[in-house]
Amino acid sequence: MRILLWYRNDLRLHDHEALHRAIGQKPSVIVPLYCFDPRQWWSTAFGFRKTGAFRTQFLLESVADLRTGWQRLQSDLVVRQGQPEEIIPQLVKQFDIDAVYYHEEVASEERAVERALRKSLDSRVAVKTFWTHTLYHPGDLPFAISALPELFTTFRKDVEKSSSVQPALPAPTAVPPLPDIEPGALPTLAELGVEPVPVDSRAVLTFAGGETAGLARLDEYIWKQDCLRTYKETRNGMKGANDSTKFSPWLALGCLSPRVIAESVQHYESQRVRNDSTYWLIFELLWRDYFRFIAKKHGNRIFQRTGLQRTEIPWVEDPVLFDAWRNGQTGYPLIDANMRELAATGFMSNRGRQNVASFLTKNLGIDWRMGAEWFESLLLDYDVASNWGNWVYAAGVGNDARGFRYFNITKQARDYDLKGDYVRHWLPELAQVPGDLVHEPWKLSTEQQQRYGVKLGVDYPLPIVDLFQSAARNEEIYNRAFKQPAQAQANRGKPDRSRSDRRKPYRSGS
Ligand SMILES: Cc1cc2nc3c(=O)[nH]c(=O)nc-3n(C[C@H](O)[C@H](O)[C@H](O)COP(=O)(O)OP(=O)(O)OC[C@H]3O[C@@H](n4cnc5c(N)ncnc54)[C@H](O)[C@@H]3O)c2cc1C
Repeated sequence: MRILLWYRNDLRLHDHEALHRAIGQKPSVIVPLYCFDPRQWWSTAFGFRKTGAFRTQFLLESVADLRTGWQRLQSDLVVRQGQPEEIIPQLVKQFDIDAVYYHEEVASEERAVERALRKSLDSRVAVKTFWTHTLYHPGDLPFAISALPELFTTFRKDVEKSSSVQPALPAPTAVPPLPDIEPGALPTLAELGVEPVPVDSRAVLTFAGGETAGLARLDEYIWKQDCLRTYKETRNGMKGANDSTKFSPWLALGCLSPRVIAESVQHYESQRVRNDSTYWLIFELLWRDYFRFIAKKHGNRIFQRTGLQRTEIPWVEDPVLFDAWRNGQTGYPLIDANMRELAATGFMSNRGRQNVASFLTKNLGIDWRMGAEWFESLLLDYDVASNWGNWVYAAGVGNDARGFRYFNITKQARDYDLKGDYVRHWLPELAQVPGDLVHEPWKLSTEQQQRYGVKLGVDYPLPIVDLFQSAARNEEIYNRAFKQPAQAQANRGKPDRSRSDRRKPYRSGS
């Protein structure tokens, strides 16, 4: 038997079910393959590059590390540039492959590629798909995906009561050989059409792609720095490398398995301490699971303007306001610092993401999908289910829509950046404004502006909207939309135009 193993967002050797099961077949050859699919570098519907420089660089490092791992096993990772549904059938033919193994995905573009692949393969070739990405296997959930609770808390409680996590699978120590094949070179950034971005010394952490770096970060955070002990208290911090785990980029590309993280937590609990913090990391991983299952249950609805409940909110697409948001020029230091961190490094803390998403949707009233696509382009840790699931939720049109809830940005700034250190770190024009004065620069007198070397409206913008008036205006719009049962009813079951407009599988001509 000859097996081709198609790598996607599962760039590792440890806890890799498709690989484990392939080896279990005792095949005469295994061809591990990664395809750099050019569609990943096309434009999004709003015209951003789907995969920007940060994630492209991280991906290249991850694939290079995976290749090293396969070479250590006396084999090699085959790398190609092109569409998997064209490349895989060619390799299947050339190397007389009997079966193709891969991990299934949940979102439309990824599923479309799977369907195209199946169509282009000869019917005698067996296709075997497996599930990875989540802590809990869907087969072990106490409900069918179609009956997934719409409330996270219900989901969590049911799962904690009735399910268990399967043990992680070991990395192989030996693999069947590779046939006589040209392994292929990794593309350069330039070949993928991506401009390199200089490393910013202010970055919260240097993220290196790959399983090796991911496992090292796990060891560093949990064991060497002993940060798990206080994770629950520190996780909302925005400035420190160890405030939160920073596991997300490795999880998103599958360089790190969530089951391995959970086993490390268990081990830590038995060796050092078991407390709220150790539980909280598993709790956060459950959010990650939840969004993936929500994506599987609701399909394309997570990409639709009207959200999971088909609510017709007249979101605006104001380019001036949107640019102020994405360039960190809103006049609200907490928002601007976070947006500039994202643009400079590809990372933003969870606290930051919650605030900037609330500001875009609840204060500016801008179509939340513009924010989601901007994040998709820039985030190092972009994960289709976590990103779109969190955005649809933050916009108030997700599962569990609980009325118009927005963040009081200046209160959040004081709660989570008490002395203003994070904001000053990212906003050089406010670097001399002391203490928490920095969170409300519009209150600085002319004399204070002179003293702290900033001229409002010149060096740093005045607020582009009034925080409370804008929220009240958008709340009215939101509530009106939810009070339109007749309209909402009429919309239910109707195809949502935005699906084909915005998330058509790999739009041509982009
Ligand atoms: C608008 C918005 C967009 C987001 N987009 C993404 C995304 O594309 N990819 C992504 O991995 N996370 C996303 N998140 C979730 C969260 O912000 C990041 O996972 C987290 O900031 C990563 O930092 P960390 O690894 O230090 O997190 P920790 O606090 O250390 O959490 C540990 C792990 O739990 C998971 N996790 C924590 N919170 C969430 C959450 N709300 N949803 C899903 N998983 C979570 C992550 O895998 C994370 O690595 C988004 C959140 C918001 C509000």
